[in-house]
Amino acid sequence: MSAISIPMADAVRTPALPDAPRAEGARPPLALWIESLSVSFDGFKALDDVTLTFEKGELRCLIGPNGAGKTTLMDCITGKTRPDSGAVYLENRDTDLTRLSEVRIAQLGIGRKFQRPTVFEGHTVYENCELALAGKKGVFRTLFARLTAAERARIDEVLELIGLRDAAKRQAGLLAHGQKQWLEIGMLLAQSPTVLLVDEPIAGMTHAETERTAELLTGLAGTHTVVVVEHDMEFVRSIARRVTVLHQGKVLADGPMAQIQKDPRVIEVYLGD
Ligand code: ADP
Ligand code: MG
Repeated sequence: MSAISIPMADAVRTPALPDAPRAEGARPPLALWIESLSVSFDGFKALDDVTLTFEKGELRCLIGPNGAGKTTLMDCITGKTRPDSGAVYLENRDTDLTRLSEVRIAQLGIGRKFQRPTVFEGHTVYENCELALAGKKGVFRTLFARLTAAERARIDEVLELIGLRDAAKRQAGLLAHGQKQWLEIGMLLAQSPTVLLVDEPIAGMTHAETERTAELLTGLAGTHTVVVVEHDMEFVRSIARRVTVLHQGKVLADGPMAQIQKDPRVIEVYLGD
């Protein structure tokens, strides 16, 4: 509910979980642990002491007004932006991601989908997945270098998941808008990430595409930790279990969708209009 940290008596380096039970054994396994993260741009605090955790396999929606810091939070997790202070830990908390390069963070299993699809329009759907796999290795291999059997199997699996198996040979530039968005999610999946960060996935989608995207994202939860930033509240309601609300760089509220919708502070700053 609140973002206030309560130090654990027996674990000095372990910040408190906002919602976690105190008993060590009862704590759900975490995928990501964001600790006291702050970022300023020219003195303006885009993120102000944000502490948040994401459980393994959960689907979390991140909402809040424009400028709340949602994209900046994703930028910090993926290494695009260096925070002024704080840390982002993976599950075992050995590694502080804020000290690593974007490439290394991606290799550790954090995939990010940007608002605009960045597929290679001149290449086929299949080739786009191949390129994504190659990128994962940090070396841009030539397109027609042999894939291993495991890599081909992975691409087939991904094409099935994103519903583009029949479009494998189509040029990506010719896909419908929704299909391009799914292809980009597929390109992330080709790299077998454990955490997926998805910024405004349904912008510009038709109703049918939106429904398909909801199915895709909810289907990926469980085997992936999925964090979705989205403004469309109907969509958020359709997929969300737990929602975090950012406002002016701080965590305003965090809890089940039903509770967030009734929260007077959230209604005032975000849901009111
Ligand atoms: P959201 O995604 O919630 O709309 P952002 O994280 O994009 O919010 O932005 C948070 C605030 O930080 C905004 O006021 C934005 O103008 C500012 N900001 C974000 N990135 C930069 C940057 N690279 N340089 C300067 N200001 C930035
Ligand atoms: Mg944003």
